[in-house]
Amino acid sequence: MRTLGLIGGMSWESTQTYYQRLNTQVKQRLGGLNSAKLVLFSVNFAQIEELQRQGDWDAAAKILSRAALSLQAAGAEAIVICTNTMHKVAPEIEQVVSIPVLHIADATAKELQSHHIQQVALLGTAFTMEQDFYKQRLIEQGISVSIPTQSQRADVHRIIYDELCQGKILPESRHAFVDIIADLKAKGAQGVILGCTEIGLLINSDDTDVPLFDTTIIHAQSAVDWALS
Ligand code: GLU
Repeated sequence: MRTLGLIGGMSWESTQTYYQRLNTQVKQRLGGLNSAKLVLFSVNFAQIEELQRQGDWDAAAKILSRAALSLQAAGAEAIVICTNTMHKVAPEIEQVVSIPVLHIADATAKELQSHHIQQVALLGTAFTMEQDFYKQRLIEQGISVSIPTQSQRADVHRIIYDELCQGKILPESRHAFVDIIADLKAKGAQGVILGCTEIGLLINSDDTDVPLFDTTIIHAQSAVDWALS
């Protein structure tokens, strides 16, 4: 089994899910007392979130690149960035380490393709929904991507930062997400990407009949595939 290097803490609420999923997957595949070999570098999300708001992605890239180098020095054989949004600086991280970065959008594209989904809607932070770094990677792999309306995007973004990243799981926010997902389906989406690693804390496939693609689960699963391959 190869050792994974996790850059977590963005937020720690979803890093817990990664840790649990990685270990559950390894146990399922290898049985008994087997568990995931990993190193975790958990950052202070308050600092990262401030840099995001200021648009200082270079400074954020430096922090995460240093974390990646520490993970490599500690024996990690691949980097797992435990957030969709911060894949914006994946290219900078890839430049400083000599081990692969297991990209969350590539794992998601592969999962969508295996379900024959060609038209998908994307939910995530405003950065993920509105900028190109994530969508473009899916488009290049033959998937067409739609996003919610401006006011829906503002609601999704606010719920992520003000609630989910702070461990608040509110029924009214779950209803808001379910309504947005229904609207995206009505506009032609065959499925919806939960493109923020905390959204799975709020909704899952029991809440809607629209196929959901939870990037935390998909990313953790593909990291285990890599570690065991
Ligand atoms: N975890 C979230 C994501 O997957 C949002 C937090 C962040 O900005 O990194 O995008």
